[in-house]
Amino acid sequence: ERKAALAGSSGPGRTSDGHLVPLLANVGGPADVPAAVAAGAEGVGLFRTEFLFLDDSAKAPSEDTQLAAYRQVLEAFPEGRVVVRVLDAGADKPLDFLTPADEPNPALGVRGLRTLLDHPEVLATQLRALARAAEGLPVHLEVMAPMVADRADARAFADACREAGLHAKFGAMVEIPSAALRARSILAEVEFLSLGTNDLAQYTFAADRQVGALARLQDPWQPALLDLVAAAAEAARAAGKSCGVCGEAASDPLLACVLAGLGVTSLSMGSASIPYVRAMLAKFTLDQCRRAAEAARAADSAEGARAAAQQVLSGE
Ligand code: PEP
Ligand code: MG
Repeated sequence: ERKAALAGSSGPGRTSDGHLVPLLANVGGPADVPAAVAAGAEGVGLFRTEFLFLDDSAKAPSEDTQLAAYRQVLEAFPEGRVVVRVLDAGADKPLDFLTPADEPNPALGVRGLRTLLDHPEVLATQLRALARAAEGLPVHLEVMAPMVADRADARAFADACREAGLHAKFGAMVEIPSAALRARSILAEVEFLSLGTNDLAQYTFAADRQVGALARLQDPWQPALLDLVAAAAEAARAAGKSCGVCGEAASDPLLACVLAGLGVTSLSMGSASIPYVRAMLAKFTLDQCRRAAEAARAADSAEGARAAAQQVLSGE
């Protein structure tokens, strides 16, 4: 059965009629690269750099230490895209030297880009290390900020990238509903969007992602979440820019087809999921994916959305 699910799973991500949807890997550092390469990842769609900071939560790793780690990941995908997310500290990933200890609601507190704008030297060091790591490599480096809430956040991040002399595309993660609703204005400041559906679900449903009892509300098939994905993807399409997904949603093969149908331009996931998503995507045309997406958005529940998409894609 595993074999059948993987039939035809090699090469780039594409629908059966040839619409390309690059399949990228989520990595936490150089140690995750071999699995990404083995799975045929077309690049990295989310490099969670906070893992480099977790060894010593008393201070940031030096510019040279960061440079070495970034360089190893970039060198593994000489012709591909590597999307690096700057440090996402706070909430479920607190760092002693950066995260306020006394926040009543850490998930709604100073985290992600908010932390970096309060500590511009940490962001500048990271961006300089990235700029140096990419020097002389043909790789397409893209750098994105976590927890962008509005246009001012996006502009502050883009300014920091320019000041660091970074020759890369600058992007914003969409993981707060405000960013999805006003994606058009955020796109005036940055060159791409990447949907972090884990946090986007958390903030859309006011459901802490660490509370297992709220799993129903964290389900990425929730039609409200699909609506926000569609809004961001449509704004990016209108602006001629890309909009990927790098949250857990991308690793569900059926949902991956729906996301492609919503207009998402790339999918990034844990490497182990890539072959399954590639095989599923290859079974359907882009038009079928669009119809599945429409049916899912017309449902009133996550289960209803899943069943509706399944029906469209199996009934043809
Ligand atoms: C997300 O929120 O969906 C995401 C990709 O980031 P993280 O899971 O690291 O918060
Ligand atoms: Mg997130």
